[in-house]
Amino acid sequence: MKCPRTGANMKEVEINKVKVDISEGCGGVWFDNLEFEKFDEAHENAGDKLVDLMASFAKGKGPVDLDKRINCPRCADTVLMRHFESPLRKIQIDQCPGCGGIWLDAGELKDFRKLFPTEADRKKAGDEFIAKSIMPILEAKAKEGQEELEKARRVAHMFRFICPSYYIPGKQAGAAF
Ligand SMILES: [Zn+2]
Repeated sequence: MKCPRTGANMKEVEINKVKVDISEGCGGVWFDNLEFEKFDEAHENAGDKLVDLMASFAKGKGPVDLDKRINCPRCADTVLMRHFESPLRKIQIDQCPGCGGIWLDAGELKDFRKLFPTEADRKKAGDEFIAKSIMPILEAKAKEGQEELEKARRVAHMFRFICPSYYIPGKQAGAAF
């Protein structure tokens, strides 16, 4: 698999039993749809480990053009959909409308987490992001049908994997994920 941003090789790494592919060209990360069900099993410190790995891959590499739309590394011709912007505009998540895989750029995740120095701050920020950015999308997608809802749920689970949250799947008010 090649990096959709830079065309460089992607290296498969495992974080808490979840396999992800990290770009050797820019440090961006690809989450395959197939790994989705493992996101909830092992998210302890996953975000810290991922940020460190992404930073080490991005080290010494030039900046990337985040405004450029990119294609899915799996379904070559499909352009990724950009959504789930955080209230602070620090993180954007790209998802393939075909296979449901998710792309995340290196600097964004780091910047997002840097804003919240303590674990408690991060959990609060994670909850706020889920409540303000993810829940409305889940509710809208539920109206579009089961398949769209499932894709949106994957993003919600992925976000919990990378950012601690007090949310427990299925337990919060509103649309469950
Ligand atoms: Zn795809």
